[in-house]
Amino acid sequence: MLDSSLRDWVNLQSHQNINTCFTCAKCTAGCPVAFAMEFGPHRILQMVRFGMNDAALASRDIWLCAGCETCATRCPNDVDVAALMDALRQISLAKKSRNPARDIADFHRAYLLLIKLFGRMHEASLMILVKLITRDLLADMGAGVQLVLKGKIPIVPERIRGTGEVSRMLNAEKRNSREAFVIRNSQFGNQK
Ligand code: SF4
Ligand code: SF4
Repeated sequence: MLDSSLRDWVNLQSHQNINTCFTCAKCTAGCPVAFAMEFGPHRILQMVRFGMNDAALASRDIWLCAGCETCATRCPNDVDVAALMDALRQISLAKKSRNPARDIADFHRAYLLLIKLFGRMHEASLMILVKLITRDLLADMGAGVQLVLKGKIPIVPERIRGTGEVSRMLNAEKRNSREAFVIRNSQFGNQK
């Protein structure tokens, strides 16, 4: 029997009905990172729709998605594939699914940590943090040093006023996401 649990969950999370997709693949044709994906947006959608839940959640494609919304703009049926990808990333993290793109997830975590600390992005800190997390200290180091030397990346971070509020906002969002996960996992997560 078709396992529709992930599809139902994604529909609820992304506020839409992905069953309206008629597989024209316009989303994939316009996606700027489809060339690097294994399946592409329209196939990921079909995987969710037809119960290939583990494969969809474990796909690197959902992490390669840049959230640019080109797919949603091009879709003749108003399917928001970007929201679908977003929902899949959230569910993948919450369910602790196998993630073949830990580097991308680590990048997102480092980014959010800096936003909490400074209230804005500081590229040099992001570079250092990502290298410490991934333990890949030397990759792209030359390009990073060049950017610093040319003054493209400030060395000292600037903080905005009200970083506490930014931090509280992000923490509240995290709490809400966790609570939503517990509720939806009890609704859909254990269905077969
Ligand atoms: S463009 Fe829309 S209808 Fe076409 S495959 Fe993508 S999601 Fe489905
Ligand atoms: S939002 Fe993601 S899937 Fe959609 S076009 Fe952009 S990169 Fe591709």
